[in-house]
Amino acid sequence: MTTVGVLALQGDVREHAAAASALGAQVTLVRHPSELDAVDAMILPGGESTTIDKLLRAFDLRDPLMDRIREGMPVLGSCAGMILLATDLVDGIEGQHTLEAIPMTVRRNAFGRQVDSSEVDLTWLPDGSPMQATFIRAPWVESYGDDVEVLATAVAADGVEHAVAVQYGTCLATAFHPEISDEPRVHQRLLDLI
Ligand code: GLN
Repeated sequence: MTTVGVLALQGDVREHAAAASALGAQVTLVRHPSELDAVDAMILPGGESTTIDKLLRAFDLRDPLMDRIREGMPVLGSCAGMILLATDLVDGIEGQHTLEAIPMTVRRNAFGRQVDSSEVDLTWLPDGSPMQATFIRAPWVESYGDDVEVLATAVAADGVEHAVAVQYGTCLATAFHPEISDEPRVHQRLLDLI
């Protein structure tokens, strides 16, 4: 059976655990490096990326997690999780680290400057179907490397279209929260990568 780990340091851990369980995965919460050994994939929840970053380092999880991701373990990050997967940040705080998994620059709190929280109708580009996405003080992808596939875009209040869901190898990241809008396609894509 497939075991999906949810990073359980801070953020909407329960919602991600429920979303992965609903698709038939066995879910385990990860707080310690040894718990990583048992997982086939990882989810990095939404929350506050600066706090999660500090806790990742305090719990000695950052390096082993980076190693597993580099070795090809599938990973999904939503919102703060997307920020954690980026190689570069705009509006990060002084000394904020990331897991440097996806070659992209992510702007923190990008949509948050306009509206704190919103529901947006997107197109899920892998199959062209509509998707309703929940954004909460969300980042967007400002720029990305050649091998990064854009899975969804959203138009900001300034009329500019930004990537809000991306895939790079076995790494998936969304600026929105599929875990709180009863949206199975993103978690299913993670399971399909295992
Ligand atoms: N603004 C948060 C951060 O920088 C992310 C918000 C979220 O995960 N809903 O971490």
